[in-house]
Amino acid sequence: MIRAIRHRLLGLFDIAKSFLLYDEEMAVAVDAGHSRWCARKIVDTLGEMGLRRGDLKLCILTHRHWDHSGGVGALKDMTGCEVAIHEGDADALGSVVDHRLRDGEVIPLLGGIRVIHVPGHTPGSICLLYGDSLIAGDALIGGRRGLKPPASIYCDDYEKALRSLEKLRGLDFEAVYVSHGVDRVERGKEALIELLNRLGSAS
Ligand SMILES: [Zn+2]
Repeated sequence: MIRAIRHRLLGLFDIAKSFLLYDEEMAVAVDAGHSRWCARKIVDTLGEMGLRRGDLKLCILTHRHWDHSGGVGALKDMTGCEVAIHEGDADALGSVVDHRLRDGEVIPLLGGIRVIHVPGHTPGSICLLYGDSLIAGDALIGGRRGLKPPASIYCDDYEKALRSLEKLRGLDFEAVYVSHGVDRVERGKEALIELLNRLGSAS
């Protein structure tokens, strides 16, 4: 099961999100928001779902950007969760990191969470495959008419970010969850193929 948590932001995107992946006994957070305030909101949401703060076992960061990682120290303090991020972005966060993730790795929680390295937005950006859902971080943006690539001004290497999206073509998933834009894009695989076709014909 997946639950979205919205964090208010100033700037071009007015919302950043965390997602809680969970069952009856435990939860994994994906991204921690920008501040202690966001960490508090994640802890409060665990309570609403009938889980205790100690049931949060891990926080996976999709990348190092402040609106995703700024709350992670506070979240770790409040819950005792461990912190994982791809090795390409790990050094930027320092000692808060417990696990340096690699492409293709399957995190053995909640039936398995697969790491897909999609460098470009940042060197260590990842997507996560969880059941039939793809949690895309900032590798994709959700719009009312499907999926878009991230804004080029926020990407370390925009061309690389576009090329990385090809890696998602071979995966099986239904819904796509993104951090900016609509929470959940239905028929996500079809939306991705449409996007790849648009990008292909534009180049
Ligand atoms: Zn970002």
